Amino acid sequence: MSYQLLKHDVLFYQRFLAVGGFYKGVLDGQWGPITNTADAEFVEQSKLITQQYGTFDAASESNIITLLPEAQAEARKFLIIAKDNNQDIRILSGTRTYDEQDLLYQHGRNGDTRPIITNARGGQSNHNFGIAWDIGVFANGCYVENDIPYKSFAAMALPLMKTIEWGGNWISFKDYPHYQLKPVSKTESVIRGLFEAGNVYV
Ligand SMILES: [Zn+2]
Repeated sequence: MSYQLLKHDVLFYQRFLAVGGFYKGVLDGQWGPITNTADAEFVEQSKLITQQYGTFDAASESNIITLLPEAQAEARKFLIIAKDNNQDIRILSGTRTYDEQDLLYQHGRNGDTRPIITNARGGQSNHNFGIAWDIGVFANGCYVENDIPYKSFAAMALPLMKTIEWGGNWISFKDYPHYQLKPVSKTESVIRGLFEAGNVYV
């Protein structure tokens, strides 16, 4: 999703801004002056992080801006590692609202003929909490679908980044393009509760 879309779901965005320490008002889904100020502060801090770590391709930029600041910094460090190792890695997905997650959950279910791409409904994915991103590996400018370069990139990058974890290490469902900040809890419902109350978990 884009930052502009993130702003459309005001309650979701207020929770996101509260977790980031920007929003101190009531979580009421109404865009007023407190939300406006928090939004401006979030944009400003995102700019400072960008200045510190540099910019990347357009897709990565549009997705990084949807992450919480701590995740933005880690995502940029992650792309620096890729660049330093001559890997064309792009961030193709960042934060999703619950509604967007529910739409993805429909893929491959209830007569939908597309492949299943997620087992998480809205509020069940770390993509809903501003701390997760999915990458694409590219070779000669083309998106690579097979798992091998995703595994070799993880083997190279993970020892350099102690703050993140990789979906390829999950036991039940291997998600090779997926990375996230190590969450405060392994249980998504715990993070969901913190997110919905606007409490910090990163
Ligand atoms: Zn993911």
